Amino acid sequence: MEQNYRASLTGVFGDPVDTNPTVVIQEAAFKDKGLNWRYLTLKVVPEDLEQAFKGMRAMNFSGINLTMPHKIEAMKYMDEIDKSAKLIGAINTVTLKDGVMKGYNTDGLGMVASIEDAGYSLKGKTVVVLGAGGAARAICVECALAGAKKIVIINRTAAKGEEIAEVINSKTDAEAEFIPLTPGIKIPDCDIIVNATNIGMAPDTNKPDIDYGSIKKGTVAVDVVFNPVMTGFLKEAEKQGAVALDGLGMLINQGAVGFELWTGEKADRAVMKAALTQALGL
Ligand code: NAP
Repeated sequence: MEQNYRASLTGVFGDPVDTNPTVVIQEAAFKDKGLNWRYLTLKVVPEDLEQAFKGMRAMNFSGINLTMPHKIEAMKYMDEIDKSAKLIGAINTVTLKDGVMKGYNTDGLGMVASIEDAGYSLKGKTVVVLGAGGAARAICVECALAGAKKIVIINRTAAKGEEIAEVINSKTDAEAEFIPLTPGIKIPDCDIIVNATNIGMAPDTNKPDIDYGSIKKGTVAVDVVFNPVMTGFLKEAEKQGAVALDGLGMLINQGAVGFELWTGEKADRAVMKAALTQALGL
């Protein structure tokens, strides 16, 4: 048989994008499965986003990831948008199959998978989410769709938290409540607490200003921040007897979901994680 030199192409559009490590995990997963696929880190400024999608079609890309600042704007170039991505109001993964461009959001799915991989179900659970940005919104929607009973959003800017609560209350079976973030706030009774703010991402060494003593023993504490792996938030929660799940779990799982959407093959999460931790020196 003749050798096929044409690789299937994927990548990420973003700006800034130079330090985005997704290439490391996707290329490791492609290699692991013996796939002739490539992942390109592509700088695309907002005014070129439409052209970039035209280029994606013209060059027969199989898929693309979107990072800052394109996750919302990109929705208007899609032929279809996945149901939960519509609720989230942003996409980070695009598939291009048979000429149809479809947008998905894998961030919240990554968080749910990370929690479930650790052996915890979302069904009937109360989840407290600190933050109300893009990651928080995806996490709240997917936790609700995965069967959580109640979502409590705690955020500094009320309007953003209230908007997420409204989406959950009106579009899912879960109940949602917004609480304004005040210094040293007591955490309401919950099964799972997620730090979905960017507080603690290196070089920042801070942690969310909450009353860690109010986190009860056995609570599952999860961080979206993955660098450092053990954040101040997770360390403090662990001191209270909480189970700590780091942000690498979410990062790897959201990448694995993307890999699976693109290739149709199951991703080996351990391979992806080993490549990432080695590349980032974590
Ligand atoms: P974003 O849209 O900018 O939202 C950031 C959130 O953090 C906002 O709710 C903001 O509150 C809150 N916040 C920031 N600084 C704060 C402070 N000093 N005090 C109180 N609240 C503060 O960002 P994002 O896209 O959601 O990303 C959040 C983090 O998640 C980033 O570090 C990102 O790298 C990480 N992330 C990780 C993964 C993963 O796979 N592990 C995936 C996606 C994102 P206001 O609303 O009041 O501004």
